[in-house]
Amino acid sequence: MLAENINQIKRNIQLACEQVHRSKDDITMVAVTKTVGNKEIKQLVDLGIENFAENRVDQLLEKKESFKNYPYLKWHFIGNLQRRKIKLIIDEIDFFHALASIKVAEEIQKRSKKLLPCFVQVNISGETTKHGLPKEEVELFIRQLSKYDRIQVIGLMTMAPLKASETELHNIFSQLKYLQMKIANLQLAYAPCTELSMGMSNDYGIAIQEGTTFIRIGSAVFRGA
Ligand SMILES: *Cc1c(COP(=O)(O)O)cnc(C)c1O
Repeated sequence: MLAENINQIKRNIQLACEQVHRSKDDITMVAVTKTVGNKEIKQLVDLGIENFAENRVDQLLEKKESFKNYPYLKWHFIGNLQRRKIKLIIDEIDFFHALASIKVAEEIQKRSKKLLPCFVQVNISGETTKHGLPKEEVELFIRQLSKYDRIQVIGLMTMAPLKASETELHNIFSQLKYLQMKIANLQLAYAPCTELSMGMSNDYGIAIQEGTTFIRIGSAVFRGA
């Protein structure tokens, strides 16, 4: 059943790419495994999935440990990172998708042994319940990161509201794309900002049309697309 779901997602990715003349090879599908266990992850590994995301520190550490025989897997942290837990996880992850505070950046700088690829999380929709910086603050925030040489801003991330219309989704994702290009044009060595992390189970087709490069898919993998 997971194989069917993955095939369906792959077909949808292909379709969305064709609509806007992009290559499917430019899209990285990250499987969000926060609601499942090692059994499902193993099935995905056997199906060739290599990118996994968690939003809890303890769960990421446990799951990564269980798959230590697969060192080629990439582990993404997509949740709010509490400052006191950073030291536990920072050298275990390949990507951090939710950078939105200088205090967290400072702690990453202090604790990380390597350069960490990060997405700056932006709250485009302005929902008060959502984590992330208002779009007006993103450039200044990224400029302030220049002194942290363990942080590489590879791109921007956002989450769209669950109940947005297609028009609203296009609008939100195109705003993030515009902001990403604006930051990329600053040509900051530590912030190439060439990537976008946007698109989840309900909206990844639209995110692909608007230029995303990383999609974070949970329920469509495990419950069907
Ligand atoms: C849970 C989660 C996802 C996956 O959501 P689905 O709708 O299940 O695909 C993606 N991104 C973040 C940040 C999440 O917390």
